[in-house]
Amino acid sequence: MSDTPASAGIDRFWDEAIVPALVDYIRIPAKSPHFDRDWSSNGHIDKAVELAADWCRRHAPETMKLEVVSLTGRTPLLFIEIDGQSRDTVLIYGHLDKQPEMTGWREGLGPWEPVIEDGRLYGRGGADDGYSVFCAIAAIRALQEEKRAHSRIVMLIETCEESGSYDLPAYLEALAPRIGTPALVVGLDSGCGNYEQLWGTTSLRGLVNGVLTVEVLTEGVHSGDASGVVPSSFRIARELLDRIDDAESGTVSHPAFHAPIPPERGEQAKRAAKVLGKELWRKFPFAKGTKPMSDDLEDLVLNRTWRPMLSVIGAEGLPPPASAGNVLRPRTALVLSLRLPPTVKGETAAKNLKALLEADPPYGAKVKFEYGQAATGWHAPKTAGWLDEALQAASRRHFGKDVMWMGEGGTIPFMAMLGKKFPEAQFFITGVLGPHSNAHGPNEFLHLGYAKKLTACVADVLAAQAAHALDEQSRPPSTGKRKRKT
Ligand SMILES: [Zn+2]
Repeated sequence: MSDTPASAGIDRFWDEAIVPALVDYIRIPAKSPHFDRDWSSNGHIDKAVELAADWCRRHAPETMKLEVVSLTGRTPLLFIEIDGQSRDTVLIYGHLDKQPEMTGWREGLGPWEPVIEDGRLYGRGGADDGYSVFCAIAAIRALQEEKRAHSRIVMLIETCEESGSYDLPAYLEALAPRIGTPALVVGLDSGCGNYEQLWGTTSLRGLVNGVLTVEVLTEGVHSGDASGVVPSSFRIARELLDRIDDAESGTVSHPAFHAPIPPERGEQAKRAAKVLGKELWRKFPFAKGTKPMSDDLEDLVLNRTWRPMLSVIGAEGLPPPASAGNVLRPRTALVLSLRLPPTVKGETAAKNLKALLEADPPYGAKVKFEYGQAATGWHAPKTAGWLDEALQAASRRHFGKDVMWMGEGGTIPFMAMLGKKFPEAQFFITGVLGPHSNAHGPNEFLHLGYAKKLTACVADVLAAQAAHALDEQSRPPSTGKRKRKT
């Protein structure tokens, strides 16, 4: 299994070439523009891109062409082209921008402080998603060293993902002639249910993110004087949130935010629940005594992949406990994050949410909801037979276990863009964000053993894609009407 030649070479390459580069990458606070408005003058994003570009040049696979593309006023993008043996194009996607620091890092760890412990590389951005470009190059190098064919490869490594990929459409357009039409898209920014087998992502949720503001006074007043006369802005906010989800069950009831769950995804959820068992919820750092939202594991899988869920992720107008006086505060602002089923349109959901929250405000209070992000999720097209087989073979070869399929709860806006742009493409979306890896939170880590095996799987899938393409392309045109082997 793990001592097949492909894996041995990849393991060594990870230890000798990739881990040191990721250690340097973690030290760079390359926060996404949303979290670093001065990213351009601060230069961290450029530094992260330069580090990756420089590393790729030093470890270049044969025929690699690399360019850091910078459209005016936009975050840079690392663009790589590698010629292959088939006429097909495979598009590989990853990103180098990072989430902000977040509090709660355990003693000795920190976002910009790389630490290797028990086969895990801790630090911000290693797993989400710094490893991706290194993993892809390692996979291609392995294929070339073993003289296994791969198709033409195009890599898009962006630096705006954690801000909703708002710069990406411009790059897709500017680079369209050089990208071509991919037959396969490999996305390396997703998750895995465990570290014991290969996981394919079947869907991603969409997301509406915005600020709900309730204003009742022009300035704060004595709460003993005013409460009972002036309505509390917090209570009004609670009432408004009740329009979205049920406080007792967490269920979002409004049909505008729901989509039917396809039967095969329900089946896959059942299988994933069985394989993962209670680890499904145990992977989260529950405070003592806290229980998950349902006892039914399958329900939990569907809750986090196909059902809308509301979170309040930030607030304003509330002083910290130590400086809170008995004041009836003038306003409460809550940052809302509404995850959406994969097939619900982000923009439509955002408009519906705004209308629902702003309609008929209690006590005529000043209520507004302003959304920043409205991202549509993604639902994979039906997986072709050759890809299904390739993933299963790779998982069995490198992990000794079956490949698993599951939706992910997060959002990668790029997938929706690509799905729309290339409806004929096949998708292999995967990643290293497994149990406790905690991307976006404190103590983020990259599971090095898993990343190595995943790299070997990516190599195998690229080889299988090329074999399939060459097989298709070797057929004489007269037999072109033959049913395309899927
Ligand atoms: Zn990411």
